[in-house]
Amino acid sequence: MSETTYQVYAWRHAPGHLLTRRQLRARGLRRAGQDPVAEVRWYRGLKVAYLYDVNRALPVRPMTPGRARALAAAMRARRTCPKCGIDRGYCIPRSYGACWPCVGGDDHDQEHDYVGWETPRDVSLREAAWSANSTTDPHRRTA
Ligand SMILES: [Zn+2]
Repeated sequence: MSETTYQVYAWRHAPGHLLTRRQLRARGLRRAGQDPVAEVRWYRGLKVAYLYDVNRALPVRPMTPGRARALAAAMRARRTCPKCGIDRGYCIPRSYGACWPCVGGDDHDQEHDYVGWETPRDVSLREAAWSANSTTDPHRRTA
């Protein structure tokens, strides 16, 4: 066996060690930067899902208390206006460098729309911090 060839499988015909991102995620795995090694097609070939080799996947990095604290601190810093020092609850846009009241916007209605912007990394930080902070798992039943 030399180079692995890219395979196209019909739905449910892919070998068991090839999983979609969603299936990897369900097993607590991430694709770890690997390119898809195959794809499945269904709905007359109109729907495609990329498959990754489970043997090359890595466990999702566990959220440790120290990492959760660092994430929360990073997000608090992003939300805190450098001018007035108030945690505004939204990410202070770098283009303004300050919160809405500090940049001279006195219209309170406008502040509601002024939510800043988030890069994909901000979103993942926020979601990670949120999941680290939340003690209740909505999927877990409590007795
Ligand atoms: Zn401010």
